[in-house]
Amino acid sequence: MNRLVFVLLDGLGAATARRCMSYLRALTEAGQARHTELEAQLPPLSRPLYATLLCGLSPVQSGILRNDDARLCPAPTIFQRARDAGLSTAAAAYCWISELCNRAPFMPERDRLTDDPSLPVSHALFYSQDAYPDDELFRDAEALRLRHAPDLLLVHSMGVDCAGHAAGADAAAYREAARTADGLLARYLPRWLEAGYAALITSDHGMDADCAHYDSTEQARRVPLWLAGRAWKDLPLPARQTQVAGLALAALGLATAEEARHTGTEEAHACR
Ligand SMILES: [Zn+2]
Repeated sequence: MNRLVFVLLDGLGAATARRCMSYLRALTEAGQARHTELEAQLPPLSRPLYATLLCGLSPVQSGILRNDDARLCPAPTIFQRARDAGLSTAAAAYCWISELCNRAPFMPERDRLTDDPSLPVSHALFYSQDAYPDDELFRDAEALRLRHAPDLLLVHSMGVDCAGHAAGADAAAYREAARTADGLLARYLPRWLEAGYAALITSDHGMDADCAHYDSTEQARRVPLWLAGRAWKDLPLPARQTQVAGLALAALGLATAEEARHTGTEEAHACR
């Protein structure tokens, strides 16, 4: 059985992750997780990079280059691939994930609570406030997991990004938000691993001292990635952000390690 929890910690830069994510570092030092860092594609904005993480295309390739460009991913997302393969899917995530994977524009009264097996993200709680608390979000995700036993679960928290926009990457509040996310992972990740899930934890982009993430700087672009669980045994750490979607598919048994290495790369795209 191949099951995956994909944790997207919005706006968590690699340097802050290195300093503040002590639980994940402990797992790594104990040999129970692997860690690497990736360079976010440009422009390092949320919606374009959600598309990159979900379907493997860079923003230039997908054409999704702005946060206000509300439309479906132009290529199959990991949710669509999973659903088409007969796997069950769920997400506790920001509403743009609904727009990229399910339906656009997001209509909160229709889409906030999603329960429709015909949709790529079949079971979901989509929030639309940037200040949605991370502890509530993780509870939402765990409730969806317990209720629906999804093969693919996305847990997408906004607390770190929200703190970064308010205070900047050099502020104590930004680091504290990272610690909060790490603590929530210390609460839930052992349960997920115990239930047989593989876990992939990463971020879309970082944050800079201007309370923003648009520039081509290390602060805005360098992001962490961790893999935990048995499913990753024969799979390589990704070298590029465009390889994350393929890696997720490989963890679900929907792509080989070799395909994962090439899925979403510029070379693969040029060949299609
Ligand atoms: Zn942001």
